[in-house]
Amino acid sequence: MEKNIFEKIISKELPADIIYEDEISIAFKDINPQAPIHILIIPKKRIEMPIKIKVEDEQLVGHLFVVANIIANKLKINDGYRLVMNNGENAGQSVFHIHLHFLSGRKLSWPPG
Ligand code: AMP
Repeated sequence: MEKNIFEKIISKELPADIIYEDEISIAFKDINPQAPIHILIIPKKRIEMPIKIKVEDEQLVGHLFVVANIIANKLKINDGYRLVMNNGENAGQSVFHIHLHFLSGRKLSWPPG
């Protein structure tokens, strides 16, 4: 199966500004930031979209939120950040490898568009 854009970042075939990495996940700056801090946290395992998450992925997906905490601590952010995962094109998903958006550094409005 051909690698998707995020798998090429995981394998370092494509450059990225990596903020955090461990055996099962990697986090890097979004190339088109929607806030002063916009980081994507992704699993190294390919899961195309949230609806494809299986029971056996429970720990893996939970890990992405733990990584978000690690990043928040690392950047000394303890308030005012948003974690978002889009499912499908109508929700704004454009890369089909699940990713948690970590957005911060400005007042974030609600509801999102
Ligand atoms: P989504 O629209 O929820 O699928 O989010 C995909 C995100 O990936 C968008 O915010 C893009 O700006 C970002 N993105 C796409 N290609 C890259 C890349 N090569 N490096 C970093 N971020 C990327």
